[in-house]
Amino acid sequence: LNMPYLLEYVNRRFPGNTVTTLLPVGVDAEGKPVPGRHQYTYRDMYRRARQLAGALRAAGLQSGDRVATIGTNTYRHLEAYFGVPSAGLVLHTVNIRLHPEQIVYIINHAQDRVLLIDNVLARLLPAILPHCPTLEKVVIMGPTPQAVPGTLDYDSWIAEQDEGAFVYPEIDERSALGMCYTSGTTGNPKGVVYSHRSTVLHSLAVSLPSGLTLSPSDTVLPVVPMFHVMAWGYPWAVPLTGANLALASVFSDGPTLAKFMQDERVTGTAGVPTIWLGLLSELQRAQAAGTPYDLSAMKALVVGGSAAPEGMIRAFDQLGLTILHAWGMTETSPFGTASHLPTHVDPRSDDGYRLRAKQGIAPFMVDLCLVDDDGKLLPHDGRSLGRLLVRGPWVSGHYYQNAEASEANTIYLDGPFGRTQWFDTGDIATIDEYGYMTIADRAKDLVKSGGEWISSVDLENALMSHPAVSMAAVIAVGHPKWDERPMAVVVKKEGAEVTPEELHAWLEPRFAKWWLPDAYEFVESIPLGSTGKFMKRELREQFKDYQLP
Ligand code: ADP
Repeated sequence: LNMPYLLEYVNRRFPGNTVTTLLPVGVDAEGKPVPGRHQYTYRDMYRRARQLAGALRAAGLQSGDRVATIGTNTYRHLEAYFGVPSAGLVLHTVNIRLHPEQIVYIINHAQDRVLLIDNVLARLLPAILPHCPTLEKVVIMGPTPQAVPGTLDYDSWIAEQDEGAFVYPEIDERSALGMCYTSGTTGNPKGVVYSHRSTVLHSLAVSLPSGLTLSPSDTVLPVVPMFHVMAWGYPWAVPLTGANLALASVFSDGPTLAKFMQDERVTGTAGVPTIWLGLLSELQRAQAAGTPYDLSAMKALVVGGSAAPEGMIRAFDQLGLTILHAWGMTETSPFGTASHLPTHVDPRSDDGYRLRAKQGIAPFMVDLCLVDDDGKLLPHDGRSLGRLLVRGPWVSGHYYQNAEASEANTIYLDGPFGRTQWFDTGDIATIDEYGYMTIADRAKDLVKSGGEWISSVDLENALMSHPAVSMAAVIAVGHPKWDERPMAVVVKKEGAEVTPEELHAWLEPRFAKWWLPDAYEFVESIPLGSTGKFMKRELREQFKDYQLP
């Protein structure tokens, strides 16, 4: 179960499959990047990944050393996904949306020796390099207008290597393959380490029909970035399945994605809800204008990272596009659940939509359970809200050189397998009798009113299904009697009008009275974090002195 085996397999079985990358090749009159198309085969990828492995070894790196990447979704980054671990080294993908100070922190914490960075991100270097003494080599992936002093050009650097001569080092499947830092709400980011074994098993789970639905006749476009949670494992699972890969580098806007999907006859894609909202409005615009895109090849759009509101699932259905809702986190590699329906449920019935809006069922080898604040197991009845615990071969048990955080997130439970170790996700969830899990909230974002929990996510999803609402975040505001009460922060759709009373009336039939927000505030935008999620901490800060009516 290691990366060299996977790389050899892909080359042997699917050498002619393609990797198509949209690369920025210039800028338009408004300064926006213009896409150009690059295509090559898995055989080309294989050769260059092996050249990269050779170059890293020739530079003196030893098994276990860390190699950082600061890159978008491109074929060169894909080569690093295969080449770095196949050289026995650890692929440390750095989230480019972190603040430069945090980037410096994690490069130093991981003690990266080499940095591979996209040409279009090289502007970050001056803020990083002077503070990262462990970096011995900086390699720029892609051409730059002028040579950047002190750096190497990726293509020429790997071209020096004789691919045919490279022999993989011996790799223990339990040794580290890669690492991702996850942004905590407090303190510094924490490093999650994946092994060869966990990555191969995770890739298998993702590529099952009951996973994220890949097949050899697919062309898959993971929009989820390769600098965040290993692009949900797609860079490995797609080649493993024998599907083609499509990568969109810096492009995530609706029009560019829609055209790319149409041109490449993309069958599957994956990303966070904010990306799909952009795509949705472009598809709706094109349809209204009488020039719809042809996305008839598309089988599933996987949505995760934040809840996919039921309204969004219905809106895509109306365009003939199917959303598959999935849940996971950095610590779970990330595939934790997907909302596949049992055969007897019609996906377009009310029951079907209700189930599809849940985060779903866990695949083979992932176990879920719920506990209360005292660590007591709660029933799977679809009602009991508890802390979600998870375990499995691709669920990480600890953080890199951070014993304190590791211990804080570990819980032991007694059961039929004896004493087992579980990871506390920090999510609050329910699980129904059929195993469908629903995230109610992050523990830290729950609204606790009169000692009872209110799920901000449920309220947000209902608000976002209102035709005039583009985004809605629900946060807790201090209250003298109830301790906390929910308030809604709402962004209206362009040109739409709606009043607080109308929103209240919209929610009333759906929730118990005490769940309804005490106030609605309209804003221009809601702050989004590095992975496209609402920054509730900032919102709470912004509204901390808010006087509820
Ligand atoms: P961060 O975004 O903090 O860097 P992760 O990407 O690991 O960290 O985020 C994991 C968290 O994202 C989960 O614990 C959960 O709260 C949330 N999440 C992921 N998928 C979903 C989903 N489908 N619905 C609701 N919440 C989700």
